Amino acid sequence: MKVAVYSARAYEKEALQNANAQEHDLLFIDQKMQASTLHLAYGCEAVSVFVNDEVSAENLRGLSDLGVRFVALRCAGYNNVDVAALRALKMSAARVAAYSPYAVAEHAVALMLALNRKLIVANERVHRFNFALDGLVGFDMHHKTVGVVGTGTIGAVAVQILHGFGCKVVACDKIENQELISRFALRYVSFDQLCAESDIVSLHLPLLPDTKYMVNKNSIAKMKKGVMLINTSRGALIDTRAAIEALRSGHIGALGIDVYEAEQALFFDDHSAAQGSDPVLAELLTFSNVLLTGHQAFLTKEALQNIAVATLRNIDCFASGEANSNAL
Ligand code: NAD
Repeated sequence: MKVAVYSARAYEKEALQNANAQEHDLLFIDQKMQASTLHLAYGCEAVSVFVNDEVSAENLRGLSDLGVRFVALRCAGYNNVDVAALRALKMSAARVAAYSPYAVAEHAVALMLALNRKLIVANERVHRFNFALDGLVGFDMHHKTVGVVGTGTIGAVAVQILHGFGCKVVACDKIENQELISRFALRYVSFDQLCAESDIVSLHLPLLPDTKYMVNKNSIAKMKKGVMLINTSRGALIDTRAAIEALRSGHIGALGIDVYEAEQALFFDDHSAAQGSDPVLAELLTFSNVLLTGHQAFLTKEALQNIAVATLRNIDCFASGEANSNAL
């Protein structure tokens, strides 16, 4: 099958080629999938996309007109896919449900530690031969309460790591994981209660209509003053403007994010020549207690390997008509 692989970056091509073993004809396209790049899939029966490719109803219609029947997502979240349009066009899609929960959970904890121990500021100082410690006081993670919102694949690993640090871990989820309760003394509470109790709040749930802006002016007001907020899931879980207000007032003490609600226009490309193009993000980055990474929580060797293998397996299943539990 000929597959147009959009948003294909150097760091993932080798893994995809190895997983493919020359079975399918992979056409690597550096650009993201959007209206202006649909024509690049001409002659392909399938496309492969990543988190910021625009799999909208309109673009799906365009792909369908070109003869594309299948969308292979190289990610877990599928909030960028218009699933209703996909079904109406009788197209199908599959995602990589889990590739390395460790990669994302460990990145969330990396953000916590870097913010708490002020590693970025400390590193900048020592590079200028300034070894003063003023302003670098952190806190013990041990015995602090961390609220994990969403205890699915990634949240469960976060609970395990944080339990290892000696944190008290509380969580909220629609489904309670009994193993986490018995192995890591996890306590499930309501989201409001989690906000009230937690020194650190870490988000590990999908972006859905009911989770959009779940961290907003009201929920932030319920959090402890000086709370650390971590988001490695999807940007629009947080109302960024409300977060900026709370950073200004000191209600949020530190913000660690790997995702940003308007990241589609920016992330995965070099925009250093147009730094003011997003004034909200530019303002966010003026705070020294904000740590932003550009959607790289998934970016480990192991995760890239697993993504490649699962993506090619999804393409194989579609090509052979085999049932696939990863289908959307
Ligand atoms: P998952 O589906 O295994 O778990 C999500 C959990 O959230 C589930 O247990 C679900 O019950 C819970 N949930 C859903 N709605 C909820 C609500 N309203 N309140 C409380 N809990 C709710 O997903 P996962 O693999 O753990 O991934 C979580 C998210 O991480 C993904 O949706 C994706 O957006 C994001 N992600 C980010 C990266 C990255 O590189 N930054 C990589 C992979 C995944």
